[in-house]
Amino acid sequence: MKKSDEGSLTLGTKKFQQKTKRWKVTILQKKFIYDNFVDKQKLGLKENLVEKRSCPMGNSICKNSFVLFKKDFFTYNKCSKCNLIYVSPALKEKKLMKLYKNSSYSNSWGKILANKTEVKFNQNKFNSLIKDIKKIKNINYKVLDIGCANGQFLDACKASGWDTYGLELNDSERKEALKKGHIVYNSKIHSNFVKKESFDLITMLEVLEHVHNPGKVIKNIWKALKPNGLIVIIVPNVDSLASNIMQSRCNMFLGMSHITMFDPNTLKNFMYKHSFKQVFCTTITSELSVINNYLNMQDPYLGNAKIKSPLLKKWNDKNILKKMKGYKIKAIFKKI
Ligand SMILES: [Zn+2]
Repeated sequence: MKKSDEGSLTLGTKKFQQKTKRWKVTILQKKFIYDNFVDKQKLGLKENLVEKRSCPMGNSICKNSFVLFKKDFFTYNKCSKCNLIYVSPALKEKKLMKLYKNSSYSNSWGKILANKTEVKFNQNKFNSLIKDIKKIKNINYKVLDIGCANGQFLDACKASGWDTYGLELNDSERKEALKKGHIVYNSKIHSNFVKKESFDLITMLEVLEHVHNPGKVIKNIWKALKPNGLIVIIVPNVDSLASNIMQSRCNMFLGMSHITMFDPNTLKNFMYKHSFKQVFCTTITSELSVINNYLNMQDPYLGNAKIKSPLLKKWNDKNILKKMKGYKIKAIFKKI
């Protein structure tokens, strides 16, 4: 990844957080959780809003798990057999849907996505993803972007001459995407509108970690893809250097909405179980400056540590990604 692809690396994490106003959302979401989901007497999640989940890998051997940590009232568990990390109890699916459809939380994310600095870096990320896809097969794709937000990735697809479709639950984001000429539905993938085997490519960019039943979603994607169709997945990497060192302090652990957390291995196994073969996998975003702030006892995201911690001596932006320790996984799978 070039420097220009990564906002926190090019600008420094503090400047990036300030320019995109991400730091405000981090504060807002803590308040949002407390105001909406917490029983103030018991100081725990309101029982009627949450439900227990079993390991989303769904293997018959996935019977036991242990607690990794609690953060902002949500508990992260790890499956003892397949190593998948997941939130349980989690918000009930209906609550989650409402959250994405229209809430101060989802609307504030919409504002971040429309922010100039964010748009610029996303543009580079999306163009590099399109190059990755073209290397596998260079055709005029009929693409469906699940959780397409304001349609920025679909814009890049359209510029390549592809047929662009999206699914978006958030009302204001969907309107934005529709304005740009994409066909966008207010629906989840498991609704009936998806005809069998109709897409060449389905993308889920930072979406799979949000869904309540990822197995069901991937099964429906399989049905909606043509033979040999591709799926692109970007998710946070729980085996990143940042999460290995900072653990629950990483912003990826947002138990309200990031409820299934993969590493490159668990993602590959999960997709194979659902008849997808991995054809490409890399990690992106080193988060080196964030980790360095943390190791200098500063706020990871808003600190500005100048001196590199001796603990990071062996690490640089390049080898973090090379060793699959980047903050996010970018993977492409083929339907088998
Ligand atoms: Zn499991």
